Amino acid sequence: MRQRGIPFGMGEMPLALALKSITEYKKTLKEVIPSTMGEPLLYSHFESLREFCFNQNIPLNLTTNGTFPNYLEFEKQKKLLQSCSDIKISLMGFSQEHFQNLMPGLTFENWKKNVSSYAQVRKELISNGESTATLSLQVTLNALNVYSIQDILEFASECQVSRIKWNLPVFLSLASDSYKVKYAISPDLYLELQEKIKTESERLSIQAKGSLFFEKETSLDCPFAKEVWIYPDGTKSHCPNPENRFGDSKQVSCKTCVMK
Ligand code: SF4
Repeated sequence: MRQRGIPFGMGEMPLALALKSITEYKKTLKEVIPSTMGEPLLYSHFESLREFCFNQNIPLNLTTNGTFPNYLEFEKQKKLLQSCSDIKISLMGFSQEHFQNLMPGLTFENWKKNVSSYAQVRKELISNGESTATLSLQVTLNALNVYSIQDILEFASECQVSRIKWNLPVFLSLASDSYKVKYAISPDLYLELQEKIKTESERLSIQAKGSLFFEKETSLDCPFAKEVWIYPDGTKSHCPNPENRFGDSKQVSCKTCVMK
């Protein structure tokens, strides 16, 4: 919405459609990604969806903004950690100022408190053999947060976070030039960041992943060919390129795809 300058939404997927879709793919399904481009825990049928997947033995792969609406009590945290293969917590800045800028409405201190709390519960469940979920941070690198990389790594280490996905920012063709100037980081800096993050992650025993470490992919093959994205109205797509969904689909090309 911030890049488009106008809100975007397709409404909520009816629960019946979500369950029908999962059942349709059940034989080959490895996990369900309740997504996307919105806070999945605000889905009004989330608990029913979680329970259904848990009973079917299909793990959820969750990405949340760290507010954990309805899932901050211990019993709810436990249920979520037992239903997920991975919980990825998004991060765009590591200070209240950057939160206000890029994650408006969220409080940095609450975000940190929630991550620490989930990390603690996860540790207990893992030691009791009650969960195998990993906990990850998903950092969108941008010009404002590159100076906080060390702080992010130290915090992740304190919380015993399993891995950090360091993703490069993706700009829609509709985004204004001033937006790109404010948040983009130069390709020269990529190499510097790769090196620094790799070295520090090894020292702190945190896995470093994400598009910052992708090799340049030249083939036309889509790395997401085995995924299917189902929209709230039931339409399906194999292409998760945000330009296709939120920007100008005419600009999408597998040859120059930003997702690769
Ligand atoms: S545009 Fe990118 S994500 Fe979409 S189908 Fe092509 S390679 Fe895959």
